Amino acid sequence: MIQVELKRIKTEAVTAVGMGTWGIGGKESPDYSRDRESVEALRYGLELGINLIDTAEFYGAGHSEELVGEAIKGFDREELFIVSKVWPTNFGYEKAKKAARASAKRLGTYIDLYLLHWPVDDFGRIGETLHALEELVDEGLIRYIGVSNFDLELLKRSQEAMRKYEIVANEVKYSLRDRWPETSGLLDYMKRENIALIAYTPLEKGSLARNPCLAEIGRKYGKSAAQVALNYLIREENVIAIPKAGSRIHLEENAGAMGWRLKVEDVEKVRGCV
Ligand code: NAP
Repeated sequence: MIQVELKRIKTEAVTAVGMGTWGIGGKESPDYSRDRESVEALRYGLELGINLIDTAEFYGAGHSEELVGEAIKGFDREELFIVSKVWPTNFGYEKAKKAARASAKRLGTYIDLYLLHWPVDDFGRIGETLHALEELVDEGLIRYIGVSNFDLELLKRSQEAMRKYEIVANEVKYSLRDRWPETSGLLDYMKRENIALIAYTPLEKGSLARNPCLAEIGRKYGKSAAQVALNYLIREENVIAIPKAGSRIHLEENAGAMGWRLKVEDVEKVRGCV
């Protein structure tokens, strides 16, 4: 029995483990060969109670969003939290609005959280895009605004640029092997500011699931290496991990990273495994 654990993005309840979709529906271009399997995997994750799905216009050149749209059919939309992202080539006032409308159309629904996918050197373009997104909140197309791959300084500048709404999330690479959000002060800052840290590549492409040291520590909890790796991240109150999983077994395993806690004395040991 999966024990779902909820976190808050502002007033929204989202599961501490969500579902990534990079590669679902193709990478940079569409790949239709595994569509049915991908939709079934996402639907199974939703049936397990996972309610956050992370996608982007970049994934499969939009096809990933189409598959997410397909997967959520029949589920109570208000219970779900869909994250999508605007790619830098679509930054700018008009282009960002157009991109968001196209994403929402492919998804067949509004977007709960819309992120700037990667920063660009010209902060003017970031600011302009953020302002366009604020108008999209007013239009009801998106509900919340966030960023992705923003370091501490860029995150602060983005917060300052906002006119009406807040930055509620920053999606960054964060795993046991790559703890830069801890060492750079980003995680602490985001915790203080009540900004969600959405941790991508949390299993280091599956390699942490094969780590014997993590498996050994997991044994006393009745948990696997992958579950230990994910639980390490979601210990923090504002961290949500979004592993991508394509099979029922992986989805069940990842969902089982929720609802328990690594003991304080094991945290340092877990860090020492990688
Ligand atoms: P990941 O989640 O660390 O790894 C995915 C790989 O791990 C897949 O090959 C998957 O295999 C395997 N896996 C999943 N659960 C497993 C388990 N319990 N045991 C063993 N293997 C398991 O890497 P990721 O896909 O790069 O990152 C996750 C998501 O983050 C992406 O899908 C995307 O949504 C997001 N992301 C965002 C950015 C950004 O710039 N914002 C960048 C990269 C990724 P199966 O598919 O066979 O289950």
